[in-house]
Amino acid sequence: MSEDKLDKLNPDDENKTYRNELATVTKEGKRKWIFPKKPHGRFYNARNIVTIILLFVLFVTPFIKLNGYPFILFDFPNRNFILFGIPFGPHDFFLFVLAMIATLVFIILFTAIFGRVFCGWACPQTIFMEMVFRKIEYWIEGDYREQKKLKAAPWTGKKIFKKGTKHGIFFAISFIIANFFLAYIIGMDKLIGIVTDPPSKHLQGLIAITIFSGVFYWIFSYFREQVCTLVCPYGRLQGVLLDRDSVVIAYDHVRGEPRGKIKKNEDQSNLGDCIDCRMCVDVCPTGIDIRDGIQLECVNCTACIDACDEVMDKVNRPRKLIKYASINSIERKTMFRFTPRAIVYSVLLFILTGILSYLLVTRTDFSVNILRTPGMLFQEQPGDKVSNLYDINVVNKTFKKADINLKLDNIEGKLQVIGKKLEVDPQGIIDAKFLLIVPKSNIHGMVTPIKISVYNRDKLIKEISTSLLGPVNKKEIEKDEKEG
Ligand code: SF4
Ligand code: SF4
Repeated sequence: MSEDKLDKLNPDDENKTYRNELATVTKEGKRKWIFPKKPHGRFYNARNIVTIILLFVLFVTPFIKLNGYPFILFDFPNRNFILFGIPFGPHDFFLFVLAMIATLVFIILFTAIFGRVFCGWACPQTIFMEMVFRKIEYWIEGDYREQKKLKAAPWTGKKIFKKGTKHGIFFAISFIIANFFLAYIIGMDKLIGIVTDPPSKHLQGLIAITIFSGVFYWIFSYFREQVCTLVCPYGRLQGVLLDRDSVVIAYDHVRGEPRGKIKKNEDQSNLGDCIDCRMCVDVCPTGIDIRDGIQLECVNCTACIDACDEVMDKVNRPRKLIKYASINSIERKTMFRFTPRAIVYSVLLFILTGILSYLLVTRTDFSVNILRTPGMLFQEQPGDKVSNLYDINVVNKTFKKADINLKLDNIEGKLQVIGKKLEVDPQGIIDAKFLLIVPKSNIHGMVTPIKISVYNRDKLIKEISTSLLGPVNKKEIEKDEKEG
């Protein structure tokens, strides 16, 4: 195909109308309801398997416990999180920030190379919409043509029954999703409590379940693909995340154009492989024509690949007129290559993951800090002793209550906690003060190095080095002066 023609088909052409309009919204701003044709084919079968695995993981995970605690928990209200059995709290904020940055870089890198694979194969919105709710719709209302007819038909008993059954099932599934969604926030035990106890005992929980159920029902029965095109920030960032080397679902316009319907007894040798059957458009759940090029609405669901492959089989032409490919691989026949952008992101991701892994591996169950109280000197104590006042801060990152004991290691003396015992609640923090009292005979200068061992019951959790201030020892000064 000539460069001229390629330019006209350039998927990045900003002047085409599909760049300025959404496929699901009319010029007047009204919603265009999409009735996608039921998809089938090898990609759809593969997505069915992936969906079963992901849904299994999603619904089984809240039941898994490690040492009596949830395996995964996102307790946002109390800012407590459990990932793979390890508790994280507000004290792990820097880890959280680093993990968020690493995730962001990973998303950018992954998208720059593999496009929106996540949207089509693993995004909960696509999985529930296309692989759960849409299947139920096909089962009750039939394929797209029957659905259109049913919508246009008057409200007969049959229509009421079909619509009622569909929406009843939709709400029931939304209710189940809402329950599991809540289980990830409050834990399965509390959720079971809400479900089994009298409603008056858990009004807040019941209100939350009702609200979540309503939101999920509204999304999957009405809002649908609008989540991806109007709400999801990831979809809207595609313009900056993708480049001409990113692998996306693309129409091979070099091979397919000029398109034209098959007509018997006509010379069609000047035509490309696309027979303009519009099957790829009919199956698209976001209502777009992939032949127009990469578009914001495309969620990479692969339905158009399956549809076109089936058409190509029927007309005895090679498959993959629509395929996973980069624009450069289609237009310039280049192989996959790591672009400079992808290399920079990879290095950044490698560094961030390294730092994060190091911090996770060296993360301890307790954080303990001991400092001599600022602005305080030593205090004289009865019995020819001196004391210093210290601040202690203990963070308990475990699920169990901690009973903190302090022990002096390198000098004889007494540690006296001021106030109550050093007990720290699970995921809790305490700030306290203690006195270190030492006989003057045990110190030999203004500053004496001190070592304190910190125990949780009888388990050593940290050894801390600090110092003790004392009076000037005249004998020591005289001795030093004599020596030199
Ligand atoms: S263009 Fe193809 S891959 Fe993209 S959403 Fe439509 S059917 Fe799915
Ligand atoms: S399904 Fe294939 S042949 Fe049919 S219109 Fe789409 S790209 Fe062309």
